[in-house]
Amino acid sequence: MKEEKKLKIVLFTGYACNNNCAFCIDADKRAFPQKTTAELLRETARASRKGAYILEIIGGEATIRPDFTRVVAAAKALGIPQVACATNGRVFADPAAARRIARSGIDSLIFSVHGPDARTHDALTRAPGSFAQLKKGLANLRALGFKRISGNTTVVKQNLAALPALAKFYIRNRINNVEYIFVDPNYGGAKNDFEKLVPRIAKAAPAMRRALALGRAAGLDQWKARYVPLCHFKDCLDQISEINEREIFFTEHWAPDFVNKDAIASRAAVGRRKTARCRGCLLYASCEGLWTEYLKNYGDAELKPLRAL
Ligand code: SF4
Repeated sequence: MKEEKKLKIVLFTGYACNNNCAFCIDADKRAFPQKTTAELLRETARASRKGAYILEIIGGEATIRPDFTRVVAAAKALGIPQVACATNGRVFADPAAARRIARSGIDSLIFSVHGPDARTHDALTRAPGSFAQLKKGLANLRALGFKRISGNTTVVKQNLAALPALAKFYIRNRINNVEYIFVDPNYGGAKNDFEKLVPRIAKAAPAMRRALALGRAAGLDQWKARYVPLCHFKDCLDQISEINEREIFFTEHWAPDFVNKDAIASRAAVGRRKTARCRGCLLYASCEGLWTEYLKNYGDAELKPLRAL
């Protein structure tokens, strides 16, 4: 019997951030008011009542809020099985903050790493010192015995060549779950600066596949690629995030400026598109195609419909 899908609620605390990533989807939303502590606690209780299996707390950067650990602790006290946070990792450079958060009850942390070194990472975060802080944060969490750390990387023109070195960084740091995320140019920084940031999928895909292969060679087969047309990943379809998540989760997004009751379906229906070239492709049913803004700028000539297995 097929297992029932689990409910994942992504709870946005607001868009304030101590980084300033060039590609950030929220780049134009910084001025939105942050949610209050009372709002977050109310929403956490509502998530629990709805039966959320995962509560993922994100910003902006949620860990810079003084009430962050209070919200995590409240979620755990309500019995939400998995409470996670996607973070730029800088706050964890402070050993006291790392200890406070590790002991809040948080189940897992997802570190966003956009390059294997300060030169690449800091150029994208536009926050000097952010890579050094992230590395120190990882070390502090390890020293505390906190091991449930994942990674994600937004793939842009500026870090394509560095993806193999970044894979080695993840391997050295024993990060078992990593997502290489093809940049979303539908909103924010990558939309505003498309030409500068968004790589052609024909160039990005080989670099992403190579990173996945390095992970597999190191025994890390849970690494994934996200937001990609499947024709460029046909030898690693079991490592595509959106195929996996569709089978496992219903995902709701609760942001300060919108609520999306089915984030997975609306991304496939509105955010990404297949084109006339895709007709007859054997991967059509499981593929979401390319970002709409990508197609507007670069067209669909790189899509390669699969006609035979
Ligand atoms: S040709 Fe279209 S449907 Fe087929 S894998 Fe590529 S993007 Fe997806």
